[in-house]
Amino acid sequence: MTNPQSAIRNSQLIRPLVHRLHPYVYGEQPKIKGLIKLNTNENPYPPSPKVLAAVKAAVDGRLRLYPSPTAQVLREKLAKLHRCHADNIIVGNGSDELLALATRCFVEPVLGRDTRPRVSADAPAGRPYQIIQYFTPSYSLYPVLADIHGAAKNAVALKPDFSLPTVAELRGRDWRFDAAMTFVTTPNAPSGRGYSTKELALLCRVQRGVVVLDETYVDFAEENAMRLALKYPHVLVARTFSKAYSLCFQRVGYFVGHRDLIAALHKIRDSYNVNGLGQIAAVATLGDLRYYHANFREIIATREWLSRELTKLGFRVFPSQSNFILVQPPRLAAHEWQHELRKCKVLVRWFNFPEVKKYLRITIGNPVEAKTLVKAARKILMG
Ligand code: PMP
Repeated sequence: MTNPQSAIRNSQLIRPLVHRLHPYVYGEQPKIKGLIKLNTNENPYPPSPKVLAAVKAAVDGRLRLYPSPTAQVLREKLAKLHRCHADNIIVGNGSDELLALATRCFVEPVLGRDTRPRVSADAPAGRPYQIIQYFTPSYSLYPVLADIHGAAKNAVALKPDFSLPTVAELRGRDWRFDAAMTFVTTPNAPSGRGYSTKELALLCRVQRGVVVLDETYVDFAEENAMRLALKYPHVLVARTFSKAYSLCFQRVGYFVGHRDLIAALHKIRDSYNVNGLGQIAAVATLGDLRYYHANFREIIATREWLSRELTKLGFRVFPSQSNFILVQPPRLAAHEWQHELRKCKVLVRWFNFPEVKKYLRITIGNPVEAKTLVKAARKILMG
C-alpha cells in the first residue's frame, strides 16, 4: 500500500507543469496470438533479408562498445541518397526524438503557467514569436511536445476535407506567420491526405520561423518535399525508417535541412542518441532499396483495394497517400466499430479527439489481413 504522506511529498517533488501534463496516447501493442494489428501503421512486411543478416552479424562482443555518436556512416549514405552533405543531416532515436529536440532547440518556453499565445510585443525584435504551430487534425504528439516544453501552442484547423488552407485563407485566420516553429505532417496523419510540394513551398515561403515538414509516410505518396529542405534555410524535412522501411523496433529517424539548424540540433542531442544496431540496420536498408520499393507498390495496391471494398460496404473512405486510411464507418459509432472489430481479432485505431472521433484509422496490412478486415466488417454489418 502507498503511504499517503510519501505520496504527498513525492507529488511536491514533481514540477507543476508535469503534473498538469496529458501524455501522448500511443497505440496499443498487445502480444495476443492471432490478432491482426492495423492500429499503429507498422509495415506488414519484414525488413529485407540483407538487413536481418546485417543486424544478426553485428550481435557479438562489439555490443560492449559505444556506437558512432554522430551516426557517421548512415549520415554519409543518407547524404548521397538525398544529394546533400552529411552536415545537412541529423539522425535520431526515431523521428519522435528529433521533433522533441527541435522543440527544445527553436522554441523558447513561456514563463509561468500561461501557455496561451500572447501578443508578440515581448518577442525580441526580428525573432519569430515563441509559438509551436500545427494544423488539426495532425500528429497528436505536437501539442504534447509543446506542453512538455512549456511552449505556447497555436492549432489551426485544416479544411473539412483535410486539405491545407491557402496562404490567403490563413491570412484571414489566427494563423501565425511569425511562429517559432510550424509542424506540417505531409502526407497528413491521421487523414492520409497528401499535399503538393507547390503548396508546401508557398507556405514555407511566408513562414518566418522554422518549418518542419514531417514526411513520416511520404514513401507511400506521389510527391515528396525534400527539395524544400535543401532550398530554404528554415525548412527541415523529417523522415523515418520506422514505417516504410519496417524498422519501428530499431528507432531510427532523421532530419534534413540547413547545416546551421542541423548543427544546433547536434549541440543539444544526447551523445549516443542512436543505438548501434539501429544504425547498422538503417545502413543495410539503404543498400537494398529495391526490396522496399516493391513493398511500397504492394501496400499502395492493397490500400486502393481496401478503400474500394470498404466503400462498397458503406464506409466513407478518405483518399490516402500513406500506409493507412481514415474511414467513417456506417451504422455504429467509430469507437463501437473499434470494439466490434477487436472481438473479431482486428485491431484498428480510434482517436478520442473531437475533430476525428467519428473516424477510424486503419493501417494497410498485407492482402490477407485486408481481406480478414473486410470479412469482419461484413459480419458486423450483418449483426
Ligand atoms: N511523425 C508522425 C506523423 C508519426 O505518425 C510518427 C509515428 N507515430 C512519427 C512522426 C514518429 O515516428 P518514429 O519516431 O517511429 O520515427
